[in-house]
Amino acid sequence: MIAAKSIAATRRRDIFCNSSKEILNLFFLGFTPGFPWVFSLAKKIKNGKKIPIEKISRRSAKPRIGAMFGKNKKLKPENHSGEDLDVQEIFPTLQGEGPYVGKPATFIRLGGCNLACEFCDTEFESYKRISLKKILDQAKKLNKKLVVITGGEPMRQPIERLCDELVKLGFLVQIETNGTIFRELNPEVKIICSPKITKGKYHQIRPDLLARIDAFKFIISKSNKDYCEVGDVGQSKSKAQIYVQPMDEYNEAKNRANLKHAVKLCGELGYFLSLQTHKILGIR
Ligand code: SF4
Repeated sequence: MIAAKSIAATRRRDIFCNSSKEILNLFFLGFTPGFPWVFSLAKKIKNGKKIPIEKISRRSAKPRIGAMFGKNKKLKPENHSGEDLDVQEIFPTLQGEGPYVGKPATFIRLGGCNLACEFCDTEFESYKRISLKKILDQAKKLNKKLVVITGGEPMRQPIERLCDELVKLGFLVQIETNGTIFRELNPEVKIICSPKITKGKYHQIRPDLLARIDAFKFIISKSNKDYCEVGDVGQSKSKAQIYVQPMDEYNEAKNRANLKHAVKLCGELGYFLSLQTHKILGIR
């Protein structure tokens, strides 16, 4: 135990950005075979090589083809049986950010969003309507303990049945939501809320959703005045953990400033730092 602690301490010293515990978690939590880049990075750490802060702040050089950047059509919430859903993609990866960082996961990305954030680098508009059965079959086939339902905005669609079925099958289900839509989801589902701003104001989280949120993830930018600080969305009435995550602005200087600013906020206010480790590692 003492030896393990000492190795961990040495590894921590080898990384310039001491607050990036999530990167370390990636190595401690165990990773999936078939990700050689993780082993190569792990080897660098083991051999005492430093990971410069630029590597962390540079992140992905280019946004994904088709990324929205606020150009998507805002779609209204849908209410139907949930027998089929609009799905953008289903793929295996590691959860790259937030409380389950580093955990092998199946991502179910649902189509469409009710907001249109200018910094949104996700592609979620070329979706297809897929039956619940096919979605579940895919989750069973990929067989990762963690299933992340994301988007777009996943709460826009009636995902209650999807969540119930996944929980019944024994999966740990995590929802990534912007917190503007409420659905009565299975109590086992973990809800991670990343609050967003429209016309200069954060969308407030309604009390019934607030009570269900396990963690908040606030996007932080040094130069974007809307996202410069952690705003009040009602989180003081919640026991949820608060993460701050530097915005990826696809600009090295801005990303570096965003990372430093996020680290400063963590130090001053006791938040957790969330890094988009999937981008650092060059995976989806
Ligand atoms: S809420 Fe999320 S998915 Fe929707 S536009 Fe904003 S960043 Fe993109």
